[in-house]
Amino acid sequence: MIDWARLQGVYGPAQDVPALLKAAGTGADDAWSELWAQLWHQGNTCEAGIAALPALASLAQHTDRAVRHPAIELAGEIVGAALREGRPLEGTEELQRPLALLSAAADGWLSERPADYRTSFRAKLALDGFPVLSDALDDFVDFCVEVRCPGCSDKVGIVIGDFGCYSSIRDWDLGDVHPIPLRPAVPDDLLGIARRLHHAAVRDDQPRLAWGLRHVFGGAECGACGAIFSPASALETRRAAGGGAVHRVPE
Ligand SMILES: [Zn+2]
Repeated sequence: MIDWARLQGVYGPAQDVPALLKAAGTGADDAWSELWAQLWHQGNTCEAGIAALPALASLAQHTDRAVRHPAIELAGEIVGAALREGRPLEGTEELQRPLALLSAAADGWLSERPADYRTSFRAKLALDGFPVLSDALDDFVDFCVEVRCPGCSDKVGIVIGDFGCYSSIRDWDLGDVHPIPLRPAVPDDLLGIARRLHHAAVRDDQPRLAWGLRHVFGGAECGACGAIFSPASALETRRAAGGGAVHRVPE
């Protein structure tokens, strides 16, 4: 049994969380907003948030989508925050099954082609071990992130959008210096989670997203040292140092 009163929520002891989870299972909107408030705050989570994941995984199997969808979305935000904060999730064996259930439920949500597809895709990315990409994801019109080159540690800008798809060394005064075209992955060459994420975007008729993912999961060249690296992997190394145990290794 979880001793909720001993666990910290965002604003203090979490003794109200079990009752809120129960009420949320009936679709009560105010219970959901209170759960959000207690378990997640501006990209951060807490002990109680992680302790709530098994219950959220159960709610994610609910027949009513008004219960299922918020459970997946909240769980995605909690997992994303936990991974970015470097909290170990995979080390905890009791979380493996809930995380697998949540990932599968997120895939089911995507296949329903929700109106706000990106929100559900962000949850899926976080649950599948890509919390930083989840946070940075946009519609790939003007996707722009900065990563550390794994070869020389220089800062490299990765741009994917209407203005081109390239890596560059960014200069405050000169802008993107020496842009080098990205090397998008060939869909058949994608492996593991990256392959399944791309497949979901194609299946759900999200061509722009699928196109962006091929670039994120493809190769980028560092203009400083010539190293070729995966933008997605370089992005995920921005997580907090120390923990960062991912429940599945990004490929
Ligand atoms: Zn480099």
